[in-house]
Amino acid sequence: MAIQFGGLNVTKEEKKIDFNGKSEHIKCLIIGSGPAGYTAAIYAARANLKPVIIQGMQPGGQLTTTTEVENFPGYPQGVTGPVLMEDLKAQAERFGTEIRWGEVTSVDFSVSPKRVIVDENQLITADAVIISTGATAKYLGLDDEKKYAGSGVSACATCDGFFYRGLKVAVVGGGDTACEEATYLSGLAEKVYLIVRKDFLRASKAMQERVFKNPKIEVLFNHNTKSLFGDGLLEGAVLIKNQGQANEEEVKIGVQGFFLAIGHTPNSKVFADYIETDVNGYIKTIPGTSKTNVKGVFAAGDIQDPVYKQAITAAASGCMAALDAEKYFAEMH
Ligand code: NDP
Repeated sequence: MAIQFGGLNVTKEEKKIDFNGKSEHIKCLIIGSGPAGYTAAIYAARANLKPVIIQGMQPGGQLTTTTEVENFPGYPQGVTGPVLMEDLKAQAERFGTEIRWGEVTSVDFSVSPKRVIVDENQLITADAVIISTGATAKYLGLDDEKKYAGSGVSACATCDGFFYRGLKVAVVGGGDTACEEATYLSGLAEKVYLIVRKDFLRASKAMQERVFKNPKIEVLFNHNTKSLFGDGLLEGAVLIKNQGQANEEEVKIGVQGFFLAIGHTPNSKVFADYIETDVNGYIKTIPGTSKTNVKGVFAAGDIQDPVYKQAITAAASGCMAALDAEKYFAEMH
């Protein structure tokens, strides 16, 4: 329910925030700055939708934490993740996209224009919103992960692997990411343990083969992590082998690096009251489109893609979102 506040119609919740009576209206607001967000911006800017991007906690998105990207079309020699994102950003800016620091902290999509609050203190109203907030790496939930964050624990081998040259490391997970990260780390570390909770890898056959034939990688099937230890810096992990079985036993491994590669959580929480998601939090879109259950709100990239999760598919869905937004404006007038 809207009430008057400093010359603005604001909701009760928003009244608690001091906006100094100011809000700003934007035609097309893009939330998130990965390949989906930047591609949406390129198309939206060229269609004169005057897009503004709110970059989010990780400007440039997940690709800024990778090294070589060899499968993005148009780069026959490959490109690093950060350079690819800088290129996409520059292309979005070239057509007039405004790119801002900030994080969206709440939204109200029950009204038109949509209301978006940035950093808990700026109110933006927007005719159309494209959500491209991506996904975030999962952790096991151990207290020790926090204790050794930045001093042994990481969720990005390609970002932090360099610090473990010549040392022993562990990677947790049995999917493609875990296998890829273990393989990558084997080029730097002395030894890599791959900690897998089941008795098989769910990674693709090609990835599995790469892992199995790598002499530096030891796969520990049927192992779960109980705790981590070390005096200041990480020195090792305590694992449970065959958890819940008669032959359950505790195993200690000495590692200086502990890398999580157990999947991702879509960054949809802030939209959850308004936007329909699946059980895992991925935003639902009408098949073949970027349209969400709310008119004028579109979703692109990993936030709505539990399956492909590639830079190129994210970019393609960003294009779709901008085209859908353009059509939405055309139909409004
Ligand atoms: P996945 O969901 O495919 O795999 C997650 C892995 O982590 C599984 O082995 C899972 O075990 C394990 N896991 C989950 N939770 C825990 C836990 N609490 N404790 C221990 N282990 C746990 O995620 P990925 O990030 O690997 O891949 C996501 C998608 O991206 C996939 O579709 C993948 O194919 C794709 N991908 C493709 C790449 C490529 O083609 N180059 C590279 C990277 C990813 P369990 O099997 O027991 O459930």
